[in-house]
Amino acid sequence: MRSLAVINQKGGVGKTTTAVNLAAALAEQGQRVCIIDLDPQAHASLHLGLSVVGGQTSIYEVLCGDASIADARVDITETLSVVPANLDLAAAEMELAGEVGREVILRDKLALDTAEFDFLILDCPPSLGVLTLNALTAVEEVFLPLQPHFLALHGLSKLLKTIQVVAKRLNPRLRLSGIVLCMYESGTRLAAEVTRDVDEFLAQQTHQQGVWSGARFFQTRIRRNIRLAEAPSFGQSIFQYAPNSNGAEDYRALAGEVLGVESAAVDTTTGEQHAPLQLTSTARAA
Ligand code: ADP
Ligand code: MG
Repeated sequence: MRSLAVINQKGGVGKTTTAVNLAAALAEQGQRVCIIDLDPQAHASLHLGLSVVGGQTSIYEVLCGDASIADARVDITETLSVVPANLDLAAAEMELAGEVGREVILRDKLALDTAEFDFLILDCPPSLGVLTLNALTAVEEVFLPLQPHFLALHGLSKLLKTIQVVAKRLNPRLRLSGIVLCMYESGTRLAAEVTRDVDEFLAQQTHQQGVWSGARFFQTRIRRNIRLAEAPSFGQSIFQYAPNSNGAEDYRALAGEVLGVESAAVDTTTGEQHAPLQLTSTARAA
């Protein structure tokens, strides 16, 4: 099983859109996928048509109460499930403040209940608090969506330091596995500049021993596509809402690359450490 957390402490960069539609694309290709919604705004749950009402179990009861992942899980299709969130989750930060071992609650609960899945995908809130910390201790891979934007890489070093600290203290298997550009507008100067910046950044890291030294820059760019912005309000993934759109095409291609990463990851299990994956930027080749 692969487990990945979609993380960026900035809001509005495409985390939820990526978590939901990557999950749906993998599920469409026959992978059994479970999304864990860790954002109190519950956008991933709503995107999949789920609105948690009173009395229903959600990720909040899993983290702050006695509920199991299985109690809260909702099966959307045969291959796609979600553990939904709602606004109650906003209280988790405070409620867990005095709790010993609060960073590993999710890890321990996921370990009990997720054997039947090929992928766990965690949609994180735009902060580095206890919810994101729970995600980082529970997964092996971090996915970083970036929006081509002036300052796109700003704050990245803090995120990477956090990942490194969690890897050192709590989760030695953790690594940054990939960076994906979202809301991409090809031909713009900004897109080219951010692409170049990410390339340079990753090229620097490959010479250092860090949790991000083997990170891959996905060749698939998620283009700006209005269908992706419309789909959530219908409670549908892009594959239900507009299966022939550019958005669907891009997330299918990303899923293909993600499945490709697996073979590289499997190779590394035979070696001593993760072999750095090839940087695959189009700008770099140009
Ligand atoms: P985050 O989870 O990082 O806050 P979202 O995935 O919710 O970001 O995206 C922010 C907004 O941008 C949402 O309204 C979403 O529908 C929209 N959006 C995301 N990706 C795209 C895209 N490729 N094209 C157009 N709109 C997008
Ligand atoms: Mg979000």
